[in-house]
Amino acid sequence: MDTNVERKHCSFCGIKGKKGMRFGGGLGAMICEDCVEHYHEVFQSESKTRQGAKAPWESMTDAEILSNLPLIAQTADQVSEFLVEWVELARSRKMSWAAIGKAFGVSRQAVWERFAHRVEDVRARADTA
Ligand SMILES: [Zn+2]
Repeated sequence: MDTNVERKHCSFCGIKGKKGMRFGGGLGAMICEDCVEHYHEVFQSESKTRQGAKAPWESMTDAEILSNLPLIAQTADQVSEFLVEWVELARSRKMSWAAIGKAFGVSRQAVWERFAHRVEDVRARADTA
C-alpha cells in the first residue's frame, strides 16, 4: 500500500502532498489538514449547512469549472490506483480471483482481465521502492 504523502493529492482542494504534510484518507479519497479544518468549520456553522444553501459550483465562473476538471480526474486516478492496491492486498493474502470477482459481482475472468496486469505493476513498484 502506497502511504507516501508526496504521491497523493487532496481529493477536496487538489493540493499535492509534500514532505511533512498529513493526509487523512478513506476508500481512495484523501483530505489535507486545511480541508479538514475548513469542513469542520462548515459543519459547525448552521448557516453554511442549512437546507437551501447554494451548491458551490452554482456561483463558480466558467474558468473555475474548467480548472476543476483536471483536479477531479486526478482524484479519479488516485481512487483507481487505491482500488488496484486493495486488489493486490487481497491477492497477497491468497484470495482467489474468483473470490475477488464475487466481491465485485463479476466473473473471475472479468476481474482478472481488469486487474491482473495492474496488480503486477503495483508489485513491481513495491519491489523497487
Ligand atoms: Zn485539501
